[in-house]
Amino acid sequence: MSESARLLFGGIEGGGTKFVCAVGTGDGEILAERRFPTTTPDETLARVVAFFKEQIQVLGPLASIGVASFGPLDPRPASAAFGYILLTPKPGWAHADIVAPLHAAIGVPIAFDTDVNGAALGEWRWGAARGLDTFIYLTIGTGIGGGALVNGKPIHGLLHPEMGHIPLPHDKVLDPFESICPFHPDCFEGLASGPAMEKRWGQKAEMLPPDHPAWELEAKYIALALRSFICTLSPQRIIIGGGVAKQPQLLPLVRSKTVASLNGYVQSPAILKEIDSFIVPPSLGGRAGVLGAIALAQQALYSATSSL
Ligand code: ADP
Ligand code: ZN
Repeated sequence: MSESARLLFGGIEGGGTKFVCAVGTGDGEILAERRFPTTTPDETLARVVAFFKEQIQVLGPLASIGVASFGPLDPRPASAAFGYILLTPKPGWAHADIVAPLHAAIGVPIAFDTDVNGAALGEWRWGAARGLDTFIYLTIGTGIGGGALVNGKPIHGLLHPEMGHIPLPHDKVLDPFESICPFHPDCFEGLASGPAMEKRWGQKAEMLPPDHPAWELEAKYIALALRSFICTLSPQRIIIGGGVAKQPQLLPLVRSKTVASLNGYVQSPAILKEIDSFIVPPSLGGRAGVLGAIALAQQALYSATSSL
């Protein structure tokens, strides 16, 4: 057993509708887990703290805690706003401080990143991105978000990537639907998220039959976005999760349309010959979020800058 496998880590998956907290080992085994609805920041964080205090009594001390949260947020440890949710329409959560109250109550290093950077780390440690150093984890659900590891590290720059808000070519003759993003008339999330599908077609995405034209259009938008990501980040793999991607007919359509859209320009066998293992579903499924948070916690322990 490695040294890190003996340590215990806390993971928090902070979602817009629910929080999931877990204690796990350094090799991805979850020893305790609790979920509760996302209410106010104070009430939600109090429940998080109560869970970890209880578990510390039962299981022993934690080495660190990772928070993989909905955003936008500030993940840069040197920033004055590190640990905060930024401007969000979610009532009560704009400018909520997440990290400082947790650190004050539990007293261990806290890592803080986006839900999708966390899921990317989890898939890298234990799932579909093992052995790679540059790849993307994309979720297509209530929103669209992308996390990326580049050269083995989650991308942080100004803040974090917002892959759901890239512009897409929008042919209003073929698709007269107006984007549902309040910021952009033509972005990926506004045209292709689950709620966009529901509004365009008048029924929830999960109710649309597999041969419905919705899926061709959805695959077209996803493929256009993937082409942009492939051309800018040069990922070695793209993992696509989220509720909408649970439809088994979607990924095969996305694969063929991505290859067609790149039109032979990116001369890699991964795209030209092995597209089935280049665009893949997550292998951690619904556990990617909380395992990703635990993977973040491990990183915090080994990175001096993230310790408050
Ligand atoms: P969230 O993004 O809120 O964490 P999900 O990833 O499950 O949650 O995304 C919810 C969205 O995905 C909703 O718009 C829903 O209609 C859609 N969705 C959920 N399950 C499926 C499914 N099996 N097939 C197609 N769409 C789905
Ligand atoms: Zn947008």
